[in-house]
Amino acid sequence: MVDLIKENAAGVRERIDEAARTCSRRSDIIKLMAVTKTRSQEEVLHASQYVDLLGENRVQEALTKRAGWPAENSVPWHFIGHLQRNKARKALEIFDVIESVDSLDLARILDRILAEKQRSGYPVFLEVNMSGEISKSGVEPSEAEKLLEMIITYCPNLSVEGLMTLGPLSNDISAVRLAFSGLRVLRDRMKSGFGLPLNDLSMGMSGDFVTAVEEGSTIVRVGTAIFGGRDL
Ligand SMILES: *Cc1c(COP(=O)(O)O)cnc(C)c1O
Repeated sequence: MVDLIKENAAGVRERIDEAARTCSRRSDIIKLMAVTKTRSQEEVLHASQYVDLLGENRVQEALTKRAGWPAENSVPWHFIGHLQRNKARKALEIFDVIESVDSLDLARILDRILAEKQRSGYPVFLEVNMSGEISKSGVEPSEAEKLLEMIITYCPNLSVEGLMTLGPLSNDISAVRLAFSGLRVLRDRMKSGFGLPLNDLSMGMSGDFVTAVEEGSTIVRVGTAIFGGRDL
C-alpha cells in the first residue's frame, strides 16, 4: 500500500533541503512541523515518524488526539493557534512550546500559572502580524519590541525563543517574501537589541514554505502538503 503521508513528508523535506541549498543555508537546523488540525489521531501518530514537530491550533483538539498517546513518542507539540485565556492552563500542560503569544495580557496569565507550578524557562514565541491583515492575530511589528521588553520585565518564567508569523493570503510572491524577510529583519534587530538568541523563526506553510526557507525560516508548519486537503 502506498504510504502517502510518508511520501508527502519526504517530498516536503526534499524541497526544504533544496531551498536551503540554493541559498547556502544549513538545512539540518530547519524543522518540519506537521500541522494536525482536523486530522485523526491515527494520521497524526503516523505522521509523527516523519517530521520533527507537531503543531495544533486548538487546545481541545490536541487533548482528544493526545488521549492514549504512546509515552515513548517524544515528538514535541507546539501550540500555533489563538489561545483563549481559559485554555492557558491546559495549554501549558500539553504543549512544549506556545508559538502564538501576542499580548502582555496573555503572557502574564501564562507566567502566573507557571509561577504557581514552580516552572520556569517555558519556551514561547511572539506571533507577529506581518501581513497587516486585520483578520490575523499577532502583535503589530512596530509593537513587537515593546512587547518583548514587557515580557522580559514582567514574565520571568517565560523564555522568548523566537518569532512566528502567517504569510499573507496572496498569490503575489513578492508580498509573501516581504512578510517573511520582514520577520527575519525584526528578529535580527530584537536579537541584538535584547541580547537574546531568538533562534527560531516559525514561518511558511504548504503554499509558501520554500519562500520562507529562502528567507530564514527554522520551522515550517505544513498541513495539507503532508496530509492532503482538509474538508472543513
Ligand atoms: C493550518 C495552519 C498551518 C498549515 O496550513 P497548510 O496550508 O495546511 O499547510 C500552519 N500554521 C497555522 C497557524 C495554521 O493554522
